[in-house]
Amino acid sequence: MTLHLANRVLETLENHGFEAYYVGGCVRDWLLSRPVHDIDICTNAHPGDVIRLFPDHVPTGLKHGTVSVRIEGQFFEVTTYRTEGKYEDYRRPADVQFVSDLRLDLERRDFTMNAMAMNRMKELQDPFGGQADMAARLVRAVGQPLERFREDALRLLRAVRFAAQLGFAIEARTLAAMSETASLLAHIAVERVREELNKMLGSQAPQIGCDLINETELFGYSPVLQRLFRDSASQFWRSAHVNSLPQKWALLFYAAQFTSEEAIAACQLLRMSKRETEAIGFFVEQLRHLQPEWDQPKPLEWGQLLLEAGWEKCEQLAQLLLACWWNQQPQAMLASLSEQYHAMPVKTMKELAITGLDLQLALQKKPGEWIVHVLRTLLRQAALHGLPNTPHDLIEAAKKEVAQDEH
Ligand code: ATP
Ligand code: MG
Repeated sequence: MTLHLANRVLETLENHGFEAYYVGGCVRDWLLSRPVHDIDICTNAHPGDVIRLFPDHVPTGLKHGTVSVRIEGQFFEVTTYRTEGKYEDYRRPADVQFVSDLRLDLERRDFTMNAMAMNRMKELQDPFGGQADMAARLVRAVGQPLERFREDALRLLRAVRFAAQLGFAIEARTLAAMSETASLLAHIAVERVREELNKMLGSQAPQIGCDLINETELFGYSPVLQRLFRDSASQFWRSAHVNSLPQKWALLFYAAQFTSEEAIAACQLLRMSKRETEAIGFFVEQLRHLQPEWDQPKPLEWGQLLLEAGWEKCEQLAQLLLACWWNQQPQAMLASLSEQYHAMPVKTMKELAITGLDLQLALQKKPGEWIVHVLRTLLRQAALHGLPNTPHDLIEAAKKEVAQDEH
């Protein structure tokens, strides 16, 4: 569906005398029969021509020759053939020049499998042998690998991530150049590093990525990340059994024997969101806590956790435990946990039949921290110990609780 819309972009450009090709990741993924998620188009038309031919557009990166063209609500990035000037900061070229030769545009791209273009007739332009490398399952730098990694050090991690996503090896000279230039990764913004690591962890074969990181000493500049990938690598294959990124990160930290505090500090180093950091810290803490005695889910312990962390986090924690301790029956265990959760007559403070204000009035006490403390105790008793969730029973239980505290 999308392809026929994209074809219209190519057709319009060709009908006006320009060349137009699909290029980069979409060609690679199409040839590998993998899902294509974004379609990039390159052309010898200048951005001004593209804008003129496609009135419905957004000039997303005019300086770099990119115009986003919209066809029936779908966006396609159309980029003028270009070469890149001298690189600054080991990441970005200082400037770009538009050129008329497709080969020059392909030459600036990182790996041979990403340096192919295909026209509407499915004719392939592959000047650097990308197809042969894909058949041999190899990631190979275009041109001189040392130069290419020195220009842009993010390519070091892109190579690792593609190897993990596709299950490819890295070609020998490319790999040697990666070891040689590894320290340049320190110049790359931590957000970019994190995004590539996320893609690697989310891939089919994260252990390939971990092994490559260790082999090339990619994180030699960061003691924390170096330790994480060095000490977790052999166990990380287990992550195949969990789905979400926080779970995968937690497993990695756990395998490398990070404490939850160390894991949280590492998440902060990678500038992860507060939400992700909290979830990862929770998983690592529980994995370490439950490890020595893990056998069967203990009703009371899970009950507390279900109340404190909610269903979603507990379900993910259970999946993590199953990934770590093989001998459990996953379906049976998750089903029993779910049953326990659904059997709890109340699950949150909001569901209690009284509010903090009711408590305050009934007990004739000034507002203060005691309210949350008492509500929490009532919730636990109502959820796990059979205290009926009625105003009368809750108030009576609250009175006892407060009297006990005051003694
Ligand atoms: P993904 O599946 O992650 O989208 P991709 O190869 O499409 O992989 P993009 O970041 O979308 O990656 O980039 C599109 C294309 O631009 C690449 O296929 C490659 O040709 C080129 N490219 C992207 N980043 C770089 C880079 N750092 N150095 C050289 N070429 C790059
Ligand atoms: Mg892409």
